[in-house]
Amino acid sequence: MTEPRIVVCVKVVPKPEEVRVDPQTRLLERANARAEINPPDMNALEMALTLKDRLSGTVEILSMGPPYFEPVLRVGLGMGADHIHLLSDRAFGGADTLATTYTLAHGIERLRSVDIVLCGEESSDGATGQVPQGLAEWLNWPQLTLVTELEIDMERHVARGQRSIKGGYEILEVPLPCVVSVKTASNEPRFMDFRLKAQAASPGRMKVWDAAALKTDVNHTGLAGSPTRVSGLASAASRERKRERLTGTSEEIIKALIEVIRNSVM
Ligand SMILES: Cc1cc2nc3c(=O)[nH]c(=O)nc-3n(C[C@H](O)[C@H](O)[C@H](O)COP(=O)(O)OP(=O)(O)OC[C@H]3O[C@@H](n4cnc5c(N)ncnc54)[C@H](O)[C@@H]3O)c2cc1C
Repeated sequence: MTEPRIVVCVKVVPKPEEVRVDPQTRLLERANARAEINPPDMNALEMALTLKDRLSGTVEILSMGPPYFEPVLRVGLGMGADHIHLLSDRAFGGADTLATTYTLAHGIERLRSVDIVLCGEESSDGATGQVPQGLAEWLNWPQLTLVTELEIDMERHVARGQRSIKGGYEILEVPLPCVVSVKTASNEPRFMDFRLKAQAASPGRMKVWDAAALKTDVNHTGLAGSPTRVSGLASAASRERKRERLTGTSEEIIKALIEVIRNSVM
């Protein structure tokens, strides 16, 4: 029985509470916000590390983004991941989900002999939830979406995932290799392990891949490969909140409140 080779797609995102909207341009100002691992990807990473605890094998982090993502991604090494692959090139910039998934899928193909790719449910900034499905499509692999628990059977070469449905749960089985998206908050991500400090800092544990190394087609990456266009931007109208203070004795207030509720539901 061979040990599984697991890849976890990790996006580095700005901390949501530190992102500001430029009042003039109305664009997001990400530059001054600190970066972190997309919180749902911590659940995907924890699921991968739990599988490694059980079955051995390797857990590798795959991310597309600029070089300054490196220290953030190294947190994953401190948690127990074995390697990081950062896909980084100016040609990858400005990508929509089509170009992002094309580039990530190329990274997975270049790694070769990957058994399973785990993703978070969605990112906290883009939040399309399209990347796992796009990856499965480019790779032509089966996929399991929104799983809360996952098992890998390397003898039968299958993955079995559990996911919640109305009134219960279902268990789905697909052949390996496959793509899996992990339900947010389905587990408690572990802390960094102080004993892995040297591993987390090791230069040999991180590889940066540019467009030439990935052998990507420039027409499919970055802005050039992104058919999505932001055609307009507008603020959502905020609804005025009504406030009314009820006065009188407790009995009078209760009666008045019942009237208010009755009128509002009629
Ligand atoms: C026209 C256009 C231009 C854009 N330009 C830029 C830009 O210049 N810079 C920019 O940062 N974004 C840009 N974006 C946003 C970009 O499309 C998304 O960051 C990216 O495609 C991922 O989509 P998402 O965030 O919705 O991921 P989701 O589909 O919500 O994420 C699901 C999961 O996929 C994985 N994943 C997603 N993105 C990555 C990644 N990069 N690396 C590894 N794993 C990942 C994670 O596991 C994540 O939990 C642009 C979008 C559009 C439409």
